[in-house]
Amino acid sequence: MRIVVVGGVAAGMSAASRAQRFSPDARVVVFERGEYVSYGACGLPYVIGGEVDSFGDLVARTPEQMRARGIGVRVRHEVTGVDARAGTVTVLDRASGRTTTEPFDRLLLATGVSPVRPDWARTDLEGVHVLRDIPDGEALEASVRGARRACVVGGGYIGLELAEALRARGLSVVLLEKGPEVAGRMLDPQLQVQVRGELERGGVDVRCGVTVQGLTGRGRVTGVQTDAGLVRADLVVVAVGVKPNVDLARAAGVRLGKTGAVAVNARQETNVPGVYSAGDNTESLHRVTRRRVHIPLGLTANRMGRIAGVNMAGGDARFPGVVGTGIFRTFGLGVARTGLTQTEAQDLGLDAVSVDVTSTDHAGYHRTSRPIHVRLTAEKGSGRLLGAQLVGHNHLSVKRVDVVAALLGRRGTAQDLFDADLAYAPPFSGVWDVLLVAADRLH
Ligand code: FAD
Repeated sequence: MRIVVVGGVAAGMSAASRAQRFSPDARVVVFERGEYVSYGACGLPYVIGGEVDSFGDLVARTPEQMRARGIGVRVRHEVTGVDARAGTVTVLDRASGRTTTEPFDRLLLATGVSPVRPDWARTDLEGVHVLRDIPDGEALEASVRGARRACVVGGGYIGLELAEALRARGLSVVLLEKGPEVAGRMLDPQLQVQVRGELERGGVDVRCGVTVQGLTGRGRVTGVQTDAGLVRADLVVVAVGVKPNVDLARAAGVRLGKTGAVAVNARQETNVPGVYSAGDNTESLHRVTRRRVHIPLGLTANRMGRIAGVNMAGGDARFPGVVGTGIFRTFGLGVARTGLTQTEAQDLGLDAVSVDVTSTDHAGYHRTSRPIHVRLTAEKGSGRLLGAQLVGHNHLSVKRVDVVAALLGRRGTAQDLFDADLAYAPPFSGVWDVLLVAADRLH
């Protein structure tokens, strides 16, 4: 059995490791067009901000370590074509320029996403960056060293993490967002305002409702031209979203879903026999809405990869789906969400009701307790939980979102949440945790 994996980061490496462990006789080969495999891209902003010492620290396993475990890893090898009928891929060795044809019995597409680059961002100007992989991080790091004024375009979680990182490096930062508020796709408007306030307290000049028209500069960027005037900047980071890398899938005759990502079943199988897909390039089932979604995140990629690995090696594993859980930190604030916001629920035509509770994250009399805001959303009548959003001034406090995430996967109700036997001691929560208070108001 020869298993070929395209892409060597979260999904690809999880799949390769799992397949090899499940079926030690299988020959597993990973082709990665970049130079790094098996690293935590999520840590990139923290290297820039100085909380992680080096990009090398993000690497979990080197190609040599993977080879020692019996997995054939070939970096700087790009898969440029797939012939699913013949069971072959065409591989370009980027170092030598040579092309070879490699056979497979099972093929995994774990090709990830690419950052969206609007036309205005397609430029040779120095100082203009996206952040997706370690080489992007190294290039950004080199630019940060000589820069004084940064402009981050995009108020999603990566833009916000970068704004904080660049402030930590002593740069002035302007954050531009086209929508009416930051974190617009994660939270309801009432909570977005709190995130913006924290960014401003951190010294970020946040400008929402602003559309970028172009960049200025010769050789090096000097500014960002917007419909609200020129923003001077010698460093620009573009973080306006991602799109799934599906060229190979298309070439192989693999069906894409409505989201534009690869459509798979719960075994991570595509419509083409023997061809699997996992990770950021792949759709998943939303367990609350039962719709197909494209929510590219780290745990999802690792889990899908693991499942594809087992199945390619002859086992039977199923991906249960996602509930749309996400979390990030911006300065002192932790922000988390799971399931649906009130806005999303309404847009889907659900009869939803939300309650807001502002309290302290642990016993109010405790010196270190800080404010936390929970918005809990449920279906009217049935009380079925639909989602939760949390904003907390101790950033770790919002990790309690996981309790709701676990219940959402089981179609839990507000009553189920209220009945949960949560941990309590004064340095951790109130005796009636803020989640329980919110659930009490809903059921
Ligand atoms: P990728 O990591 O994109 O890997 C795909 C690989 O495939 C790439 O290395 C690419 O070079 C390779 N490839 C593509 N096409 C070919 C080809 N034809 N031939 C050979 N190789 C190919 N997620 C979270 O859950 N929490 C976070 O806090 C978080 N923070 C993030 C911060 C940043 C800055 C970034 C960039 C991402 C963050 N993510 C976070 C997302 C998370 O990193 C991704 O979900 C995860 O990396 C996806 O893994 P993947 O293997 O599917 O894809």
